[in-house]
Amino acid sequence: MTYHIQQFKQGEIIFHGGDSSDCAYIIEAGQVEIFSANKGTIFDILHEGELFGEMGVLDQSPRSTSARAVTPVTLLEVKTQQITNRLSESDPIVKALVGVLLKRLRSMLPGHGLGTEKNSLLDQVASVIEQAGLSKFKLESELRSAINAGDIQTVFQPINDIPSNELAGFEALSRWTHPHRGFISPVEFIALAEETDLIIEVGDLVFTRAIDLLSKLPEHVFININVSSKQLDDEQFLNRVLKKVKANNINPSRLKLEITETMVVDFKLAKKWLEKCQKIGFPVCADDFGTGHSGMEQLVELNFDVLKVDQVFIRNMFKNKRYQTILNSIATMAKDLETKLVAEGIENDQEYQTLKKLGFDYGQGYFFGKPMSVEDVLKLTN
Ligand code: C2E
Ligand code: CA
Ligand code: CA
Repeated sequence: MTYHIQQFKQGEIIFHGGDSSDCAYIIEAGQVEIFSANKGTIFDILHEGELFGEMGVLDQSPRSTSARAVTPVTLLEVKTQQITNRLSESDPIVKALVGVLLKRLRSMLPGHGLGTEKNSLLDQVASVIEQAGLSKFKLESELRSAINAGDIQTVFQPINDIPSNELAGFEALSRWTHPHRGFISPVEFIALAEETDLIIEVGDLVFTRAIDLLSKLPEHVFININVSSKQLDDEQFLNRVLKKVKANNINPSRLKLEITETMVVDFKLAKKWLEKCQKIGFPVCADDFGTGHSGMEQLVELNFDVLKVDQVFIRNMFKNKRYQTILNSIATMAKDLETKLVAEGIENDQEYQTLKKLGFDYGQGYFFGKPMSVEDVLKLTN
């Protein structure tokens, strides 16, 4: 879904009371006045970053007030469907609260007589709407711009061969430094991208860069890439990747796809996808292994090439003996299933030595190296 930017000249009407409500607005620049044309009352002056016009959108009734540009303004338009989709996915309590507050607020607006509670109610509505996820719209639109402007970076974290402690490959990870908010964790912006179709674009970006880097790295070095469920649903995704791999003359076995256990909701579908990847020659890793809820059936049904054991097991292995016991069992099981084993989050030599004894194949973590730029990867490998 795309966002539209609208510009209004100073004094220009943005909407009239009684108009149908087909979108809300976030102010990108300038000031907007919310007023009643009948009574000549000014309710509010809104500034950059603020949201207006959401009330009618939420309950589908005509605009109860009018809005005018006080200065030249730039607005980001948020369509009704985007809001109703968000609201329908939100917590039922938040949804109910929005409904109740809207009704109460409406009863105080023109035609119903205005109470003194207006401002505190407006604040409540604003905060509830924020909880409903509306504030994400701005970030979402900024993420889209960042993607288009090339501001989403890809960094690569070393993965070492455990027996020899030599570099074996890298995991590609996305980074976003927001112009105002600074570093935004991928946990936050990838989740946001996954809620929309932006993850397809982020994913394509990562694949393009990883494949480009692979063409400059020694033949034995591989790159792991995180794949989201939306990408699996995209029929053309594997074809696009394969085309890039072929165009760069890369052996598909050097590109490993990481999917998390929690993503597998439909075994049949996951199995089909896994088989398709393996037929092409892309190895598939079960990421964050051990933290999902799918149990052993997944291991029986899905023939992963690699199990990537979650950091939580490594972090706790000397704190709680039971974690080491589980690590031990995973190691035995992986050997019997002929599945490669990777440990994540290795931070010291003690952890490394223990995992080496347990027979782990690969390791990733600050002990081997932090995520780094392409330039640093090339320095490290040449
Ligand atoms: P993940 O796939 O489990 O990636 C490993 C995370 O652990 C990375 O966090 C990495 O920086 C961090 N890490 C690595 N070694 C250590 C260590 O020794 N100690 C500690 N404490 N942490 C370590 P990061 O980069 O913040 O990424 C978080 C998650 O965001 C990733 O978890 C992955 O699920 C997701 N992600 C990142 N980039 C992408 C992307 O391009 N596409 C998709 N779909 N997901 C991504
Ligand atoms: Ca991963
Ligand atoms: Ca992981």
